[in-house]
Amino acid sequence: IKAARAALAELLGNMRAGIAFTGAGISTECGIPDFRSPGGLWSQNKPIPYDAFVSSRAARNEAWRRRFAMEEAFGGARPGRGHAAVAGWLADGRLLGVVTQNIDGLHQLSGVPDERLVELHGNSTYAVCLDCNCRYSLSWVRKEFDDAGGVAPDCIHCDGPVKTATISFGQAMPAGEMMRAHEWAMECDVFVVLGSSLVVYPAAYLPIEAKQAGARLVIVNREPTELDPLADLVIHADIGDVLDGVLPHPAAFR
Ligand code: NAD
Ligand code: ZN
Repeated sequence: IKAARAALAELLGNMRAGIAFTGAGISTECGIPDFRSPGGLWSQNKPIPYDAFVSSRAARNEAWRRRFAMEEAFGGARPGRGHAAVAGWLADGRLLGVVTQNIDGLHQLSGVPDERLVELHGNSTYAVCLDCNCRYSLSWVRKEFDDAGGVAPDCIHCDGPVKTATISFGQAMPAGEMMRAHEWAMECDVFVVLGSSLVVYPAAYLPIEAKQAGARLVIVNREPTELDPLADLVIHADIGDVLDGVLPHPAAFR
């Protein structure tokens, strides 16, 4: 891991227009389990597809019940060492932006501004009306849900279904966000994958596109990924351990 960190420090030291591409693995040290870990909340329940959510009140009730259970399990999660490292690269002017598959809002909490963040799968820390797009806080939904005895509330403006601002199976990916991530991928000099199994498409096309457009590809993940053979540097280790202090922040020299 020492040699790998030296190689990584050199790549990151020369990075001027990078992309940090993050998956569930960057948030596991914050107490949020990834998709694959056995016993995690995700593995206990089959995901509720988008069509079911829209067409069935019972599905909406169940989706919100699960969301509030998750809130209780890890609603207070704070950014970890990986998030801090990425926010530091951005502050140092090394990144075009951060592209995440996560829905936990931890990049924002670590100081990444919205205009530099693409959330490919949306955000679970607030809700939206699927018909008129107006925004609701989780606490508002929670109160309505509890007051009604476990019934999901509808939009107070248009009666539309209210859903966490995440992308469900069967729901269209946000076109604007995909386009922004694609444009960055075509322009970046280094594409750094942190904690993604790279099996969820279309998100996993981005590192391939970046590589084909000439970027160097770095993958940091505990276990092998499908795209390891394509990468310039692969590190199979814990993200926090690998990134912590690998690039001294310029502030450290002042
Ligand atoms: P994934 O669970 O498929 O893969 C995560 C990868 O990270 C795994 O290969 C695992 O070995 C690795 N990993 C876990 N902890 C690590 C650590 N500390 N250091 C290094 N590697 C580590 O996750 P994915 O590829 O992001 O896709 C899962 C989907 O589920 C995404 O679409 C995402 O929207 C959703 N999801 C989000 C969250 C979240 O927001 N935090 C959590 C779970 C799932
Ligand atoms: Zn509405």
